[in-house]
Amino acid sequence: MRFASEFRDPKLAKGLLAAIERVVAEIGATADNPVRIMEICGGHTHAIFRYGLDKLTPPGLEFIHGPGCPVCVLPMARVDEAVKIAEREGVIFTTFGDAMRVPGTGKSLIQAKAEGAYVRMVYSPLDALELARRNPGREVVFFGLGFQTTTPSTALTILQAEAEGLGNFSVFCNHITVPPPIEALLDDPRMVLDGFLGPGHVSMVIGTRPYEFIARDYGKPIVVAGFEPLDLLQAVLMVLTQIRDGRAEVENQYARDVPEDGNPAALAACAEVYEPRPSFAWRGLGEIDLSGLRIREAYGAFDAERRFGIGYGAAHGEVPEPKGCACGEVMAGRIKPHQCPEFGKGCTPEVPLGALMVSSEGACAAYYRYGGLSLEPAE
Ligand code: SF4
Repeated sequence: MRFASEFRDPKLAKGLLAAIERVVAEIGATADNPVRIMEICGGHTHAIFRYGLDKLTPPGLEFIHGPGCPVCVLPMARVDEAVKIAEREGVIFTTFGDAMRVPGTGKSLIQAKAEGAYVRMVYSPLDALELARRNPGREVVFFGLGFQTTTPSTALTILQAEAEGLGNFSVFCNHITVPPPIEALLDDPRMVLDGFLGPGHVSMVIGTRPYEFIARDYGKPIVVAGFEPLDLLQAVLMVLTQIRDGRAEVENQYARDVPEDGNPAALAACAEVYEPRPSFAWRGLGEIDLSGLRIREAYGAFDAERRFGIGYGAAHGEVPEPKGCACGEVMAGRIKPHQCPEFGKGCTPEVPLGALMVSSEGACAAYYRYGGLSLEPAE
């Protein structure tokens, strides 16, 4: 099973869909009282819509889109802080492309760039390190974003910068971690969730053990899933089968890439460089304890917050979402993207009002791209 086509086999997909339909019926779920499965990862949200799995699965199954798009959950206050750093004299601010258009309260990074700030798109933190080597007279800052999928590469880049003694490189660290928001959602009495699809890439780093509390303490099944259509259909069937059988376990559909204990080298690099923040703000979800990472004091020379005196909280606090934006409601799974009054009107991928329309992993961008305006609008 080495090639993508093997994970897109229509005959196998039909068999899995028939099994899903049967188990949904056995559970007794209907369109009015569906089984609600949250896919935590934005990559899964994208794949579900790209392959039309939401339309192929029976109406008794509802996908709830979780907070697994790191760009989407970045609070506006942190975008404002990034803009402040980028606008400093002598700074080259580097970032992944999708973060450039995330709206802050005043402007996005791309708007700051248009006004003269030196903002550069990079594909990896190592690109930023190379810029620092080539520009010794300038401060090169990397916008550290993402879950445990990207935390190791940022950590290893900081370790490399230290090994080279690069004094003009730092990271504006906004890395976040996956288990805490799941716990926050499970503790929210407004959320009704029957099971989870666990993130594939994050789990390659952290393994499957960190999810054990979901089954043990909350009695909900979780299945770590891959990203191809057959991966997702098989993982959905595994969750449904657990629900039907009254089980709640951590299972691993993506075992070809996800070891139970994760990646020890990546975990060691992260433990060396980062420590948990007491709490971190998530757009739409608010402050969540121990959900963000900051750079340890031992590596403080590479911490842009320390270097530029922009500590967490400098521009922080309750920053209201733009008027009409329902990103928080979508992020918490309370409404679907097309039920936001601004969907496809005041908010499109070309001119996004909210963060969920910016990144391709954002639920609104996925709805717009694959479901578009044919979906039933808000009342
Ligand atoms: S349509 Fe735009 S404003 Fe509405 S929830 Fe989605 S991203 Fe936010």
